[in-house]
Amino acid sequence: MSVEQRASATDRVLAARERYVARGVATPSLAVARAEGARVWDVDGREFLDFAGGIACQNLGHGPSAVVAAVHEQVDRYLHQCFMVGTYEPYVDLCRRLDELWPGDSETKSILVNSGAEAIENAVKIAHAATGRAGVVVFDRAFHGRTTLTMAMTAKLVYKQGFGPLATDIYRAAAPYPFRGVSTEDALASLDLLFRQDVDPRSIACIVLEPVQGEGGFIPMPPEFVQALRRICDEYGIVYVDDEVQAGCGRTGTMWAIEQLGVEPDLLVSGKTLGGGLPLAAVTGRAELMDGVHVGGLGGTFGGNPVACAAALAVVDELTAPGFAERAEHVGSFLRTRLDEIASRQPVVGEVRGLGPMLAFELREPTPDAAKATTAAAFERGLLLLSCGLDGNVIRLLPPLTASDEELERGLSLLEEALGDAGAVRT
Ligand code: PLP
Repeated sequence: MSVEQRASATDRVLAARERYVARGVATPSLAVARAEGARVWDVDGREFLDFAGGIACQNLGHGPSAVVAAVHEQVDRYLHQCFMVGTYEPYVDLCRRLDELWPGDSETKSILVNSGAEAIENAVKIAHAATGRAGVVVFDRAFHGRTTLTMAMTAKLVYKQGFGPLATDIYRAAAPYPFRGVSTEDALASLDLLFRQDVDPRSIACIVLEPVQGEGGFIPMPPEFVQALRRICDEYGIVYVDDEVQAGCGRTGTMWAIEQLGVEPDLLVSGKTLGGGLPLAAVTGRAELMDGVHVGGLGGTFGGNPVACAAALAVVDELTAPGFAERAEHVGSFLRTRLDEIASRQPVVGEVRGLGPMLAFELREPTPDAAKATTAAAFERGLLLLSCGLDGNVIRLLPPLTASDEELERGLSLLEEALGDAGAVRT
């Protein structure tokens, strides 16, 4: 038998991946065969509990039956039209649902696109058109995507080094990070300094903020910070863009995280779970802002693909179904209690934080080694986990909000064992 034949199915998939797929797309150790609910099976038949959720795309778990049924039904009708060639109802219906779900009183309109980054790009375009201004304000530890504009808005070197020239007119201010000593007052002082030192607020088109910073380390933005930004936007005619790509679609227990922060944004960007696993993202916003763009100024061949829209309509139905919010709240308090217990036993854990069931813990040491070793050890034990944070030392939990208590409990036990395997904690 040749070496190739003796290798596991996973080894063969990963070897082919290495040969044919660009190495810039990071390679995990997992080769997936199928997935259901909170579980994933690899091509060798190993079962994993999924606390990574395709990076927040599986708030409803893998293959929710209502979403799969909606996709099947749409596939038999038509796969694609291009919304600029033929209007189709799933697109319009989803925009109507997004209007109904808007976190405020304004009348809204939406545009549908293929990815979170594309949606952020469109939100910025809409803000430029509405204000006639160039400047964009973003924050420390932000993640808004990997396209040319959004990598300049994103605050992590790995996503932009070597890819210049970067987009101009992007300005960065501090965001609150109490665990590392940055208060709301510090963050607002940094914005004030930016406006006195670098750019007149009257030349800023939009401020873009994640209500809970995702890739940056699951850092919830304090309501008083978000409310102060809203006041600043109102004072200077700046468009407030709420990036809910990771925090939205029920992840924090409410449809949109900003509902818990007491602010109505001007534009809201959604994605990830919205398409239930199909590529879909949206910009929803006050109708007069959205209509500030001339006809033909927005759009794209695949944006709002009908199959993705059919999936999204079923996703939205599930996220707003009776009992879902209660279940999400239960998942949040269940995870928080267990994480606090782990933290009280393990001094290496610096802080447990998040909003509702969007939770993570940060290791005290600001280096990625222990978190990397922990996610690797978790994988060996059958748990899919992701780290995040500028220093890579935050472990985030993204289990489906539909996971059973038994699955959540098992995942947390595996997580604590993995911390032990990694030598990060006392065992
Ligand atoms: N915005 C936030 C807050 C995100 O977390 C992400 C992706 O992780 C994006 C934007 C970009 O989304 P996509 O990867 O779909 O382009």
